[in-house]
Amino acid sequence: MNDSALITVAAEQRRNLVGLDRNELKEALVAIGEKPFRAKQLWHWIYHRGATSFGAMTDLGKELRVKLEEQFVIARPAIARQQTSTDGTRKWLFHFADGQKAETVFIPEEDRGAVCISSQVGCTLTCRFCHTGTQRLVRNLKAPEIVGQFMAARDSYGEWPTPLDERRMLSNIVMMGMGEPLYNFDEVAKALKIIMAEDGIALGKRRITLSTAGVVPEIERCGRELGVNLAISLHAPDDDTRSAIMPINKKYPLKDLMAAVRNYPGLTNARRVTFEYVMLKGVNDSLAHARALTKLVAGIPCKFNLIPFNPWPGATYECPDDATVQAFADLLATAGFTAPIRTPRGRDILAACGQLRTDSERRSAKEQRLRDAEERTRAQATRAEKEHADT
Ligand code: SAH
Repeated sequence: MNDSALITVAAEQRRNLVGLDRNELKEALVAIGEKPFRAKQLWHWIYHRGATSFGAMTDLGKELRVKLEEQFVIARPAIARQQTSTDGTRKWLFHFADGQKAETVFIPEEDRGAVCISSQVGCTLTCRFCHTGTQRLVRNLKAPEIVGQFMAARDSYGEWPTPLDERRMLSNIVMMGMGEPLYNFDEVAKALKIIMAEDGIALGKRRITLSTAGVVPEIERCGRELGVNLAISLHAPDDDTRSAIMPINKKYPLKDLMAAVRNYPGLTNARRVTFEYVMLKGVNDSLAHARALTKLVAGIPCKFNLIPFNPWPGATYECPDDATVQAFADLLATAGFTAPIRTPRGRDILAACGQLRTDSERRSAKEQRLRDAEERTRAQATRAEKEHADT
């Protein structure tokens, strides 16, 4: 496990080109008196080659390169911290221009791997079992910050220029980091379109999964506009249980959620929806729950992901024992569903589900306590000096 030190972000006046779509890139060039066709060249350098400076763009004239350098930058979010787990999982804490931070995780498999990307700083959902839910929402991330997370992860592994899909190590994206992506749909959609676009990062839509707690009105649009894979954080087979752990269920109950899932554009047996199911001891882990689940999803092309609850300090839930989780999985399998039990990755660096940003927050809290203690000591010393002077 390694740990990199916090770096500071310098004030940058020049406009960042990362996160601009094709039209915006054209407009930015026209605004400095250049021809729109230059956008094609720049797009290739930025998103296919992963260039971080204009000097490297050898098919552009020297004068143009200097001009671009004066006006623009090609920047990723700054890395405040990077940690690599003993199991290979890597986590970055990114530091955005306004000082806000969000985390990204890379989960490597044998010859591929998924990058788990954040869509918001904090979250408004307050799911009871999720640590991010205890942090208030600070803000939505903008498209450049979402695209930037993936590009910075690719930088970290030197995966430029963009390899063919089959050769990629950073082969998949899951929108399962901090935040609810469908509460920030416009920026998430813009970012994913840039990531999917040809002659750039060009990641296929089949390699991207968007996970939602169930923002029903946006689900159809997600399928129609983006065509990415859908994952639903289901976590319970009935409204009572679900509403108790996920307040969003009161707004969008299971009947509506299931209807939206059934109508998800492009859903077939070859492209199934994933139901995520966090196993919480004594809450949603009985065989009766599993049986109810099979009825709830009957007829939907789907698979399950069973996630043993990841405890965090102060959580009121526990993870069921292995036998309970296994029995639950077996019942689903016998009913004909794919239902793997997920083993948590990156536990030593707190990279597992629902734990993102907690460690850095805890650190800040600790630093704050230290500052408070110093402050108290100083105040005492001043008081003592004053008393001494008075006597
Ligand atoms: N808001 C989106 C995406 C972020 S959460 C959503 O709800 O889908 C990513 C996944 O991690 C969700 O399925 C979430 O329910 C799960 N999760 C959150 N906290 C967890 C915890 N402590 N243990 C296990 N899984 C957790």
